[in-house]
Amino acid sequence: MNSGAAANLTDPGKTKSVVIVGGGTAGWMTAAYLKAAFGDRVDVTVVESAQIGAIGVGEATFSDIRHFFEFLRLEESDWMPACNATYKLGVRFEDWREPGHHFYHPFEQLGSVDGFSLSDWWLRMPQSSRFDRDCFVMAALCDAERSPRYADGTPLAQGVFENVGDGQSARSNIAEYQGAQFPYAYHFEAHLLAKFLTKYGTDRGVKHITDNVVDVALDHQGFVSHVNTAENGTLSGDLYIDCTGFRALLLKQALGEPFVSFQDTLPNNSAVALQVPMDMERKAIRPCTTATAQDAGWIWTIPLISRIGTGYVYADEYLSAEEAEKTLREFVGPEAADVQANHIKMRIGRSERSWVNNVVGIGLASGFVEPLESTGIFFIHHAIEQIVRYFPGGRDDDVRRDAYNRSIEHVMEGVREFLCLHYVGAKRADNRYWKDTKTRKIPDALAERIEIWKHKVPDSESVYPYYHGLPPYSYNCILLGAGGIEVKHSPALDLADPTAAQVEFDRIRQKADKLVQELPSQNEFFAAMRAN
Ligand code: FAD
Repeated sequence: MNSGAAANLTDPGKTKSVVIVGGGTAGWMTAAYLKAAFGDRVDVTVVESAQIGAIGVGEATFSDIRHFFEFLRLEESDWMPACNATYKLGVRFEDWREPGHHFYHPFEQLGSVDGFSLSDWWLRMPQSSRFDRDCFVMAALCDAERSPRYADGTPLAQGVFENVGDGQSARSNIAEYQGAQFPYAYHFEAHLLAKFLTKYGTDRGVKHITDNVVDVALDHQGFVSHVNTAENGTLSGDLYIDCTGFRALLLKQALGEPFVSFQDTLPNNSAVALQVPMDMERKAIRPCTTATAQDAGWIWTIPLISRIGTGYVYADEYLSAEEAEKTLREFVGPEAADVQANHIKMRIGRSERSWVNNVVGIGLASGFVEPLESTGIFFIHHAIEQIVRYFPGGRDDDVRRDAYNRSIEHVMEGVREFLCLHYVGAKRADNRYWKDTKTRKIPDALAERIEIWKHKVPDSESVYPYYHGLPPYSYNCILLGAGGIEVKHSPALDLADPTAAQVEFDRIRQKADKLVQELPSQNEFFAAMRAN
């Protein structure tokens, strides 16, 4: 949503009250955003339990997160140091094709030449075996572990694409997307972000109560009338936001809203996580989240300023919790020896409706898919934007509620398709887990799309048709990177003049080489930041 769009969404002068149950990432992102959107015209209360902790993971984002911080009028220097944040240029997938292979899903649009996507041209005339290196500048920056900002702090966004693409010709669209795509996202420590947003919210009037909600009371129409806390009496509001995580205390437990499981198509339902202190001044701070394929799932690695966040996401049908923890510890090495493991059962899927009566579930209470593309916080951000956009006026809000619920459903179903593509599209098929990824049920619509993509690379006409945060280029990255599905170039390209496409490939390579030389490593960048 355009960040200016929220300003006039309430009747002037009419105060509304919102009770947010839960103070994890979802609760505090929502509270901060509502204050930024509505100021004093909305009373916001956050009640969070001291006994029930936040989930403690969720530290990689994707590039739309920039709009969240912009909406809060925050500069990177305001929040990044407080959250031990680093930059992320994309996701690095290791061993999804075969051992030793890697490819990126970077935050960078794909160019086109003469009306054909550069990926189509690449299939016709591959420059190397690396689709990502040939078609994106960012892949080289990830390989070279560069920062997306120059040492003086100038962001890459202001210059990265200007000489890439055919600036003299209307045939390339690369110059057009300059500014449209923000080239990076962030990694941050989840609990530090919640702490930072707690201060941001309470400084702006959010009432913060530390207590357990022990009961949710409904009126005769099934709307929540109030919630009872253990020590602070009752809390009531016009709108209740359920941010209680997988418990979904209001949406599921009190209102009984059914849950649509994605388990049949995405079987990974467990994770074990470690927060491993590291001397990151000696170890490279990779500017990407890494997803390394394993025997029964994959391991994430998120580099932060003084530690890494890591975890094994797996299907318990194929691997026990003990084996997963052992594998993860071996993967990390001796640094993990004394670190306590956090075992998590994941509820994969979505609430049938996320907004029911006067309750809106946001975050894990609404839905979740495994974190392969860091979409959890994106779901939260999207939901908050939508709840501001469709902010309720009264009980007869069916139209707004339905529109909101459709939007949440589309985002989650679209991401589900995209994640399924990772598994069915991965070349790896060396054990039962990976063999099963080739025969497991996938959404029917995705199966039809894959048949199309075998003959025509994904474009806006063939990917999931509703907004879900992932443009066609993302599908190209997975399809051509993971390598398990053969894709043919358009026959028309055998008849077309390839000169302009070759110019495009050459320019991308030259630009990448230049930037690798010019940009500091993340370690150098953050060391310079600390020194200033
Ligand atoms: P929680 O963090 O579980 O917070 C729940 C809150 O509710 C807590 O404050 C708790 O105290 C409160 N609460 C519960 N019951 C009560 C009660 N009765 N009374 C009062 N308060 C109560 N997302 C990403 O974007 N990127 C990632 O890299 C990523 N990795 C992930 C890895 C794993 C293994 C998992 C499971 C998730 C990951 N996610 C990721 C998702 C991300 O962690 C969540 O979307 C995010 O943390 C939001 O969680 P939450 O606030 O909804 O729930």
